[in-house]
Amino acid sequence: MTNIYNYSFQELSDYFVAIGEKSFRAQQVFRWLYQKKVNSFSEMANIKKELLVKLEEDFALKKIKIIDQKKTPNAQKYLFSLSDEHKIEAVLLKQNYGYSLCVSTQVGCAMGCLFCASGPMQKKRNLMTYEMVQQILLIEEASGINITHVVLMGVGEPFDNYDNVMKFIDTINNPYGMQIGARHITISTCGLVPKINQFAQSDKQVNLAVSLNAPNNELRDFLMPINKKYPLEELMISLKNYYQKTKRRITFEYIMLADVNDHDKHAYELVKLVKDLNCYINLIPYNKTEHGQFQATNLEQMKQFYDIIKKSKINVTVRKELGADIWAACGQLRVQSEEE
Ligand code: SF4
Repeated sequence: MTNIYNYSFQELSDYFVAIGEKSFRAQQVFRWLYQKKVNSFSEMANIKKELLVKLEEDFALKKIKIIDQKKTPNAQKYLFSLSDEHKIEAVLLKQNYGYSLCVSTQVGCAMGCLFCASGPMQKKRNLMTYEMVQQILLIEEASGINITHVVLMGVGEPFDNYDNVMKFIDTINNPYGMQIGARHITISTCGLVPKINQFAQSDKQVNLAVSLNAPNNELRDFLMPINKKYPLEELMISLKNYYQKTKRRITFEYIMLADVNDHDKHAYELVKLVKDLNCYINLIPYNKTEHGQFQATNLEQMKQFYDIIKKSKINVTVRKELGADIWAACGQLRVQSEEE
């Protein structure tokens, strides 16, 4: 039976029209699901009885389950079990502008980035839209917190699950859904060029971040195998086209790995690479994982790297290490659980 959280607003409207109802029923049902957050159809007080029976026949309301959580003052990491027993995770971060949730988009990941705890896990499958939406709903319910920002930076490559991710964005952004503003939603990609091109043509107003981590092909080929398929030249052309089409500033994420990508020469190369783009560079301190082969850049070198970029008039920040002890790197809580 189809899970109702898998249906976009448009699909639900079409469903109601197809069964001879008015399309405004979708507004009512979306409000019950995403604003009043009911757990059964019978709680939908303004829906007539016969229609409730029909909804119960046609849809499931089943949810994924929270099976573990770890907390620090600024971060909470949640582990979920899916109906096929796969595990996924999401991290809630307290920011000075509200609460931001880092959502997973796949079970495992096919991209194999060397610095990522999910890399060796390999992709098992894409997450369905309902499994992404419910990460937000369940964490809001468990924590009593209103999530104001969503970043698709958990386990998985969002553009490798493009259609489900786009539907997820529509639902959480919908005025009858969770009403999370498009500017408060960020998709992070490792650089799937054809999908960036497709995304540029969509009318989504959400932010785009690119996990860059290296300023030249040799180093990026080593750190991120996807670069062999879509090298930096192609990536930069697609990002320039994206900017021309959308006029939306791009964020580059750069995880600082000691003696790998953090030398002064890398900072100068990075400036040269991105200088023609309206962009923002986010330097991310690396959190060493148990299985990780890298070390974190020390503060002094990070400052020097930052200064080189700053002096070249490119917007740059260093990401605050919120809850580094539980964040570690994407996939770590799940890796631990599977080992146990
Ligand atoms: S960093 Fe992201 S894209 Fe790369 S392997 Fe990890 S989850 Fe996948």
